[in-house]
Amino acid sequence: MAEKKDYYEVMGVPKNASEEEIKKAYHKLAKKYHPDLHPGDKIAEAKFKELNEAYEVLSSKEKRARYDQFGHAGVDPNFGGAAGGSPFSGDVDFGDIFDTFFGGGSPFGGSPFGGGRRSNPNAPRRGSDVEVRLSIEFEEAAKGCHKEVSYDKVESCPDCHGTGAKAGTSASTCPACGGSGQVRITQKTFMGVVQTTRTCDRCGGTGRVINTPCPSCRGTGQVRKHKTVEINIPAGIDNQQVLNVPGQGNAGANGGPDGDLHLLITVRPHALFERRGNDIWCDMPITFAQAALGDEVVVPTLDSKVSYQVREGTQPGDVFKLKGKGVQKLGGRGRGDQYVRMVLEVPKNLTTKQKELLRKFEESTSDHNYQRRKGFFDKLKKKFGE
Ligand SMILES: [Zn+2]
Ligand SMILES: [Zn+2]
Repeated sequence: MAEKKDYYEVMGVPKNASEEEIKKAYHKLAKKYHPDLHPGDKIAEAKFKELNEAYEVLSSKEKRARYDQFGHAGVDPNFGGAAGGSPFSGDVDFGDIFDTFFGGGSPFGGSPFGGGRRSNPNAPRRGSDVEVRLSIEFEEAAKGCHKEVSYDKVESCPDCHGTGAKAGTSASTCPACGGSGQVRITQKTFMGVVQTTRTCDRCGGTGRVINTPCPSCRGTGQVRKHKTVEINIPAGIDNQQVLNVPGQGNAGANGGPDGDLHLLITVRPHALFERRGNDIWCDMPITFAQAALGDEVVVPTLDSKVSYQVREGTQPGDVFKLKGKGVQKLGGRGRGDQYVRMVLEVPKNLTTKQKELLRKFEESTSDHNYQRRKGFFDKLKKKFGE
């Protein structure tokens, strides 16, 4: 790579030049070296390129600071990526600069320097996606459901079928550019005659003009509509998941496809169940007597209630599993399981009689009844002595 010239030297300004001075210097030199004024002149082309590169850096506060500190290495992407992009990637506002000396428009739309180059306005464009939040119940997420979703989206105007021309009329060839979408301008300037091509103002580059705009869409061919669609929410969807509904987003243009609808799912919490993946968990409160003696209890599930035999001597925190009573697996077969955790509720607000009975009962118990407690005190004795 050839030795790079100092950017301040290229622009002919001192190191402490103000933004305004840099801009002025650029305007002056751009006029002098613009390739449209020197067709085929390689030196002028190289100078112009060099000038743009310098201006790209010095006109950006951030890049200029980096350049002042590190030199070319601070801003050249070939030096390990401190800066980004080519000098012609668009940081230089060509429109702004050429407005100044041609008085409007960007006459360099077709120049190899690309500042004003636009994509074809007639090319098919895909519609954008629409995001809508949707809250559903726990059971609806677990088992799947149908939901009506209402939202605003852009649609092709039904009155003009997207053409933008009032019903019964049609767009005609643009008289300003003859349908090419580009116009050639010849301008006499103090530097001589300059001929350039730019996008046609009249038709915006489409080559067609609408003489009588459709009143429904004001000639745009698209309208905003409130839509209600019925969506099939698959079983097993979870909180914070996004459901993509293809083709229900904003309408495309020029025959491009419609965007998608993104449903951001919120699952409301359940009063009894907690979801963990495809399994669900719930607490089952039981009394001391039920735990000690065993009992048949009624357990809620997603489907219905089921009865379960609590075995004698159940401990608090014991968990039992109801196989296949969990959530439907999303897009797959089968279901998760339901886990039921035993929660022992100690009685409160006892009457004198109840307390008396309980004391008698307590006196009647021995180590034989409380093996875990006995084991605990045995270990305690071993460690600390009597
Ligand atoms: Zn219309
Ligand atoms: Zn035109």
